[in-house]
Amino acid sequence: TTNIVELEQITEPTSQQIIDENRDYTLFSWSVQNAANPVHLKRAEGVYFWDGDDNRWLDFSSQLINMNVGHQHPKVLNAIKKQVDELCFAGPSFATEPRGTLGKKLAEVTGLAKSFFTLGGSEANENAIKIARLYTGRNKIITRYRSYHGATMGSMTASGDPRRWPVEPGMPGVVRAFDPYCYRCPFGQKVESCHRECVSHIEEIIRMEGPDNIAAILVEGITGSNGLLIPPDDYYPKLRALCDRYGILLIDDEVMSGFGRTGMWLATQHYGIKPDIVTAAKGLTSGYMPLGTVIVSAPIAEYFETHMLYGGLTYSGHPVSCAAANANLAVYEEESIFENVETQGAYLTHRLNSIEQRFACVGDVRSIGLFSVIELVKDKVTREPLAPFNGTSPEMGKLAAYLKSQHLYAFTRFNMLWVCPPLIITQEQLGNGLDIIEEGLRIVDATLAS
Ligand code: PLP
Repeated sequence: TTNIVELEQITEPTSQQIIDENRDYTLFSWSVQNAANPVHLKRAEGVYFWDGDDNRWLDFSSQLINMNVGHQHPKVLNAIKKQVDELCFAGPSFATEPRGTLGKKLAEVTGLAKSFFTLGGSEANENAIKIARLYTGRNKIITRYRSYHGATMGSMTASGDPRRWPVEPGMPGVVRAFDPYCYRCPFGQKVESCHRECVSHIEEIIRMEGPDNIAAILVEGITGSNGLLIPPDDYYPKLRALCDRYGILLIDDEVMSGFGRTGMWLATQHYGIKPDIVTAAKGLTSGYMPLGTVIVSAPIAEYFETHMLYGGLTYSGHPVSCAAANANLAVYEEESIFENVETQGAYLTHRLNSIEQRFACVGDVRSIGLFSVIELVKDKVTREPLAPFNGTSPEMGKLAAYLKSQHLYAFTRFNMLWVCPPLIITQEQLGNGLDIIEEGLRIVDATLAS
C-alpha cells in the first residue's frame, strides 16, 4: 500500500484530468458552462504559451489584452519574488515602499496627482464613479453604448454593450450616448464631412438631463472590446471642452488602451488632452499580479484632503502587486517597449491595410499601436456584418476554429477579430501570426463565394 500511495503522490494529473477538474469544480466567465472548452495552459514564455500536449501557441491576444511585456518576464518575476520575501502584505492604512513608488510614477506619467489602488479594472471604474459623485455632489454618469467598463454591478451598468443587459436596471443614474464609430456612423455621416455629431449630441443629452445633475462622462480611452473605435483627431479636444463648459468630470478608462498598448502611457495622450480621472489595470502589471488604479487630478486629490474618501478594500495597495507594477513599468522604459510598439504597429497597420484591400470579407481594419481589429462583412458595399451584433455565425465560427487549429490564440467577438499581441513581439512573430490570419480569411472568402 505504501508504494501505491507514493505512486499516487508522484503521478502528475493528465491535461484531460486538469481540464475536467476545472470544468467540474469551477465556473468559467461569460460562458454557458457546458460550452466552455478550455485549453490547459501549462507554461509560457514571451509571446508563446504551451498547452498540455506541448503544442506551442502564439498569443495574439496577450491573454486578455493585458500581458503587455509578455509571459514570464524575468525582471517582473524577480521583483515579485523579492517583495514576497520582504513583505507579503500590509493593510491599506499602512505606508509601504512599493505603494509610494508606484503612486509617484503614475502621477509622473499621467500628469495627474494621486492614485487609489484596487484589484482590477471593474473596481477601478466602480471607485472612479463614486469619487466623481462625492467630488461633484452630482449623480448622473454619461457613458457610451459600445463601451465595456467591467463586471461588478456599477461598472457593468456603466458599460453600454449587451453584457449589461442581464443585470439591468443595475445602478441608477447612467445615461448613454453614441460612439465615434466612423465605419458605421450612428448619425449616418462620413468622417470627412460630418459635424462631429458624436460630440454635439452629447451636449444635447447634457441639456436634457440637466448639466447640474451630471457628475462625469466615462469613456474608454480607445474603445477596446467593442471593436477599436478610434475617434477623429478633434473628438477628445471637443469632449474635453464640453466637460469644462458644464463642470463635468472626464473619466478616461484606460484599462485596456493604456500602458503602452497604443504606444503611449494613455491613449488620450495621442490627442493632447488631460482627463480628470484615469482608471487603469491590465497593462499596469501586465497581469503578473492583480492591480487596478483610479488616478485623480490635483483638485480632486485636494478635495479629499478635507473630505472623507468613502471607500476601501482590504487589498488596496497590495505590496506584491505594487512591486510587480513598478518592475513592469520599469521594463517599458528600460527595454524601449513603446518604441517597439511604434515600429511593429507601423508594420501591423501596413499588413492590415493590405488585408483590407485583398479580402472580400474584410470591411474595415482599425489599428493604433499594437491595438487592432479586423471587421468582417458579408459584402464590402452593403457592409452587412459577417455575424449579427451580439451574435455569431457559421463563418465566424469557422474562422475561429481555423485559428485555433493553427495554435494562434486571437480574440473573436461578433463580426470582429482582434490582433493585440504582447508589446515585445518581433516583426517575424507578428508576420507569422498574420499569415495564419490571412489563410483563415481566405477560407471565409471561399465560403462566401460558394
Ligand atoms: N474597462 C475596460 C476598458 C476593459 O476592457 C475591462 C476588461 O476587459 C475592464 C474595464 C474591466 O477590468 P477587469 O476585468 O480587470 O475588472
